[in-house]
Amino acid sequence: MAGITIDDLRERTRGAVITPGDSDYDEARKVYNATADRRPAAVVRCANAGDVMAVVNHARESGLELAVRGGGHSAPGFGTCDDGLVADLSGLRGVRVDPANLTARADPGATWGDFNAATHAFGLATTGGIISTTGIAGLTLGGGFGYLCRSMGMTCDNLLSADVVTADGRFLTTDAQQHPDLFWALRGGGGNFGVVTSFEYRLAPVDTVVAGPMLFELDQMEGILRFYREFAEDAPEQLFLFPGFQTAPPLPFIPEDRHGDVLGIVVVCWSGPAEQADAVLRPLRDLAPRVAEAVGPMPYPAINAAFDALLPPGLREYWKGSFATELTDGVIAAHLEHGPKVPSLSSTVHIYPVTGAPQRVAPDATAYAYREASFSTVILGVCDDPSDDAASTAWVRDYYAAVSPHSEPGGYVNFMSADDGDRVEVNYRGNYDRLAAVKRTYDPDNLFHLNQNIRPAAA
Ligand SMILES: Cc1cc2nc3c(=O)[nH]c(=O)nc-3n(C[C@H](O)[C@H](O)[C@H](O)COP(=O)(O)OP(=O)(O)OC[C@H]3O[C@@H](n4cnc5c(N)ncnc54)[C@H](O)[C@@H]3O)c2cc1C
Repeated sequence: MAGITIDDLRERTRGAVITPGDSDYDEARKVYNATADRRPAAVVRCANAGDVMAVVNHARESGLELAVRGGGHSAPGFGTCDDGLVADLSGLRGVRVDPANLTARADPGATWGDFNAATHAFGLATTGGIISTTGIAGLTLGGGFGYLCRSMGMTCDNLLSADVVTADGRFLTTDAQQHPDLFWALRGGGGNFGVVTSFEYRLAPVDTVVAGPMLFELDQMEGILRFYREFAEDAPEQLFLFPGFQTAPPLPFIPEDRHGDVLGIVVVCWSGPAEQADAVLRPLRDLAPRVAEAVGPMPYPAINAAFDALLPPGLREYWKGSFATELTDGVIAAHLEHGPKVPSLSSTVHIYPVTGAPQRVAPDATAYAYREASFSTVILGVCDDPSDDAASTAWVRDYYAAVSPHSEPGGYVNFMSADDGDRVEVNYRGNYDRLAAVKRTYDPDNLFHLNQNIRPAAA
């Protein structure tokens, strides 16, 4: 609509509306991935759900593009845009725990660090990611796996209800009874259907865990990966573990003469009874000598924050992800060829297990569809200097090309890059048509398209 200005938006919102020329504009436009260096027309620091409704209405009426930002961790930088509006929810970080009902309600800008701090005070947790600075919003809406998923299910499986502002500016509470089609779509369908202003989760008792990294010589990784492909299915579900390749950081538990070497890594998190940890981890420890190990008892929030320093905001990132139902000899060979070539300290590959509880949910029970996949791999190229972008991206692409023939066609939407948009349909498999129909109901004009986009079904 002609004549609508940013000043009109200022009048409609309680939170700050930051525009080019404001002293905090450069800070406000930043997201986690420095390659997403974009210049929005305005960043709205939403102060409440009313502000979210105002921004959505303003975007729709003015025709400006709309980016929605929670934790800002999107690999393609979907939390920002050029010349459009950013609904920045990162100031809304409250978490209210209901210990009697084992639930927690969280604001959309909360990170997993915020969430875990609040729930840990009650000895409770839900499945979150492996880094504490990631936002609960984007992770939950894409599916979500992490240290607790083998026993508790995906993050989206623990979502009980959500408040959503839809493209027409309506505020809806969704759960299994209210707008169940929308609630189904939110559990894996990403930011396609509206702006979630509140998430309610199921919690379970989780307090101290036995967790941390083990580092191995590269020549032990073939045996470790072969062991892992069975162990990831058979190990007790309170054990989450993932192997990968990693440049050894300069940390005191690693021998100084190995700092900077590329090594194999296995990160473990045992959330069962502490006295059982040694027996559960014994088969892994017996497999190969460790170059270094820092596994021990710690509060659950501590393992969630243990690797934050390796992945600080402001670096230049390029990601690819894929699913596999098994780790074949072929894919192990691909990992052994490309994993040792990690190009920087923050670059890595992780092979996450999504076995156990996530696989007991039917593929059509939530939008997240790849329930029979046992492994979700992420290849993460990270550099500091733009002149290293080409080499970092080439490493990820070559690696991905090598694992692809041994992987499913789809991957986890939250591990996709901007050039993966053509994989969205295959990622949602048999759920895609239903998602497109829900999209038509709640966002027929595709206002929410800065995401791994599901296009509205034709009328
Ligand atoms: C360091 C790092 C570690 C990670 N580890 C894990 C992991 O262990 N497990 C895992 O599953 N994933 C992991 N991820 C991937 C992560 O799930 C995605 O990057 C996720 O999108 C991040 O959510 P966010 O809120 O921080 O991101 P944002 O960039 O703020 O948002 C991501 C997407 O969600 C949409 N969105 C955000 N908030 C809302 C909202 N309130 N309503 C509607 N849409 C919204 C955005 O528009 C965007 O499309 C990791 C990512 C990083 C960078």
